[in-house]
Amino acid sequence: MADRTYNFSPGPAMLPLSALEQAQRDLLALPGVGISILEISHRSKAFEAIIEQAEANLRTLLSIPSNYRILFLQGGALLQFAMIPMSLLRGQGKSADYIHTGTWAKKAMQQAKFQGGVRVAWDGSAASFKRMPSQEELDIRGGASYVHMTSNETIQGIQFQKTPDAGSVPLVCDASSDFLSRPLDISKYGILYACAQKNAGPAGVTVIIIRDDVLEGMPTDLPSMLNYKELADSKSLLNTPPTFAVYMVKLVTDWLINDIGGLEKMHRINQEKAALLYEAIDQCSGFYEGHADTASRSLMNVTFRLPTPELESQFVKGAASRGLVELKGHRSVGGCRASIYNAMPVDGVQALRDFMLEFSEANGR
Ligand SMILES: *Cc1c(COP(=O)(O)O)cnc(C)c1O
Repeated sequence: MADRTYNFSPGPAMLPLSALEQAQRDLLALPGVGISILEISHRSKAFEAIIEQAEANLRTLLSIPSNYRILFLQGGALLQFAMIPMSLLRGQGKSADYIHTGTWAKKAMQQAKFQGGVRVAWDGSAASFKRMPSQEELDIRGGASYVHMTSNETIQGIQFQKTPDAGSVPLVCDASSDFLSRPLDISKYGILYACAQKNAGPAGVTVIIIRDDVLEGMPTDLPSMLNYKELADSKSLLNTPPTFAVYMVKLVTDWLINDIGGLEKMHRINQEKAALLYEAIDQCSGFYEGHADTASRSLMNVTFRLPTPELESQFVKGAASRGLVELKGHRSVGGCRASIYNAMPVDGVQALRDFMLEFSEANGR
């Protein structure tokens, strides 16, 4: 097997080894088909079976109710930042409530402003996005077109522990960085979307789960590729979809079902992995300083600082020399960040924890 490092990148991120191995085995010819997934027609029976299985796996894992459609689109989460307000925010007097929890929420909000009114339902910027809001802090209006939330702020490393209650207003969620990491009650959402390259597959495909009544209320006078109804009616096959990425989503969700045993089990493993790193941070407090308030700590992205930028860069280099790579924090916030999505093995996190304890010991904690 190739010599793989532990990749703590925020995305594209590690994929399950078994999914990579199967893709490798079948790359030259899909069994029984004789054609590579890279060459196959998106209109073929074989590809139809793959995209249908990817959808069925998602329905199984998340118990998605039958009044929700699943779309596999291109353009990443960023295109969803624009497409959602294009469909839900245009028109006289419409406005949406955005929960401003960090960098990604802000980007979503900026894109929405091109289409219509945006109101901030809670603003975490003054407190450096160290925590998620409580339900009581949210100022959601009954008349809002929708409420937009970001379930996990990938850059700051904070995560909602509980889904906000938006009342009768459709709740729209960017779940890009914690999708499939824990069970979710889909019935609480009008739209939930996630780019694949954190937990669900490689870059190139974005999963959108959308409730029928939200879809039905959308305008149809939009270009086809921006038109959810047309995309849904074509079963995400309006044009050539990212066939390989969809295939990988199928393999990753196969792994979640067959090897992991579902999202509750995955969640437990993710809790164990995150606890290893947060315990190291707490144990060496004064040397490591976690960015997130304890109650908002993300299970996916563990963000922390060291006493000086010099030590941070030594830490990142030292870890890399042990095969623990991509630990530098996002350029906008600095520090260090360990992204430990579903496919990061427990062994990788243990190795990082050991290195953290050693490094703090050696550098005068
Ligand atoms: C990675 C990420 C995005 C951006 O996704 P793209 O596919 O690059 O557009 C958006 N939101 C969150 C929460 C992310 O983690």
